[in-house]
Amino acid sequence: MADPTPKVRRGVIERDGEACVSCGAQGPLTFQHRRASGMGGNPTRPGFADGLAACAICNMRFEGDLQTLALLNGWKVPRGVKDPARVPYYHAATDRWYVITDEGPWRAEIPREVAVAMKLAVYGPDGSYI
Ligand SMILES: [Zn+2]
Repeated sequence: MADPTPKVRRGVIERDGEACVSCGAQGPLTFQHRRASGMGGNPTRPGFADGLAACAICNMRFEGDLQTLALLNGWKVPRGVKDPARVPYYHAATDRWYVITDEGPWRAEIPREVAVAMKLAVYGPDGSYI
């Protein structure tokens, strides 16, 4: 997957309060790609909904022992999901769920029940994507 522009990278990290969404570490932070990178290269630059702030260790663990948790918490989005903005994400440092808004690097806090309903709408009641 292509790298985000510096503006998107900076905006995502600021949006997430300069803290890793998983462990809350305040740096150094990476741009966590929520969608798996495609084979053959994708020329599309990632947008604000494609990224989260994560420390390098958690970013790596999302592909390993934290993969299931990453899917449940919206830190990773399955390849079949076309619009990652439809998947809310959990931020451990604030213990809150957020939806990524359409414009700019902003997020909106949502109740856990809304987050569950949004995930059901995307993944279906059997969670077949996960
Ligand atoms: Zn972390």
